[in-house]
Amino acid sequence: MKAAIYHGVGDVKVTDLPDPKAGPKDIVVKVALCGVCGSDTAEYFISNSGAVMPGNKFGHEFSGTVVDVGKEVKGINEGMRVITNPMTSTRGGRRNACMVGGFAEYVLIEDAAIDYNVYPLPDHLTLEDGALVEPGSVGMHGVNTAEPKLDDQVLILGAGPIGLGALTGVKALGIKNVIISDISEFRLEKAKELGADEVHNPKEEDLAELFERLYPDQHPGMGYIDATVDAAGAGSALLDAICLSKGGARISIVALHKHAIELEPMFFIMKNLQMKGSVGYPTEFPQVLGFFRDGKVDLKPTVTHRFPLSEITAALTMATKADEAIKVLVDMSA
Ligand SMILES: [Zn+2]
Repeated sequence: MKAAIYHGVGDVKVTDLPDPKAGPKDIVVKVALCGVCGSDTAEYFISNSGAVMPGNKFGHEFSGTVVDVGKEVKGINEGMRVITNPMTSTRGGRRNACMVGGFAEYVLIEDAAIDYNVYPLPDHLTLEDGALVEPGSVGMHGVNTAEPKLDDQVLILGAGPIGLGALTGVKALGIKNVIISDISEFRLEKAKELGADEVHNPKEEDLAELFERLYPDQHPGMGYIDATVDAAGAGSALLDAICLSKGGARISIVALHKHAIELEPMFFIMKNLQMKGSVGYPTEFPQVLGFFRDGKVDLKPTVTHRFPLSEITAALTMATKADEAIKVLVDMSA
C-alpha cells in the first residue's frame, strides 16, 4: 500500500509498504478520507515534538471501510463504514495516537471493539462527516473542560477547526451566548455560518470594548465571561479572556501555545477562576458522533480543500493558511 511517512521537519514522503493484515483481535480499515491536524502541521513545519516519531506513518482523523476482520472480533463486519478513536486504536494507546497512520491506504486497528476504538458510521452520515468527528471531539473536550451552563456567556478563542468544533459543540448543548474571536475575517465568516452569536476580531476592536457594547449596564469590573475555550494559542487573547472573566469562571486551554505568558495570580484568587488544560477526548468521541447523527453538529462547511495522498505536502502546507483553509482532507480515492 501507499503510505505517507514522516522523516522529520520538512520531510514527508509517500512510500510503498506491505498491506497490514488483521491479527485475531484486529481489523484493517481501508481509508477514505483523513484530515490534516494542527499537530501534523506542527511536526512538519515547526519541530519534532515526539508525537510522531521519524520513520513512522501519521494522520489520525480518518474514516473508512472495514476490509479485514480478525477471527475473535465481535460485531464488526467487512464492508462496515467506520471511524476509529486514535487514542485507543493501537496497543500503544494515546502516545501513539498521532501515528495511527491515516495518511495511508489501509490502517490496522488493534484490539478492535465497537465503542472502544471502532464506531460504525450511521447510514445517513457521509465518510466526510466521519473524518470530522475527531477534530470535533477535540473541540468538545475543550468545551466540557470549561463546563459551560445554559445561560453562560461563552468565549471561544480561535476559529480554526478546533475552535469551530468547540463552537458547534457548545451550540449543540443549547447555549445561547457564544462569542468567537479570531484575526481572520474568512474564519469569522465561517463561524457565523456555523451559529456563532457574535464574532470578534481583535484587529478591529478590543474584546473589552465589545463586551461593554454588548452589556452597557454592567460594571466592567464584574467581568463578562463564564467559560472560555482557548483554541487560538495567542497569549494576549488568553490574558484578555482572564481579565474579562466573571467570578467562578472556567478557562480551558486546548491550543498548543508556543510561547510562555505572564499571569497575574491575584486575578485567579479574587475571582475564583479555574484554568485547566484539555487534550484529546476521553469521553467526547461518542458524544460528538451522537451530535452528528442527530443533526445537531455539521462540520462539513469547515472543509475547504481536498488533496490526493501523492500531494500530502501540499495538503500540509495548505492547512497552515489561515485566510484560505480551515479543514484540509487527504482523499484516498483521488
Ligand atoms: Zn486531530
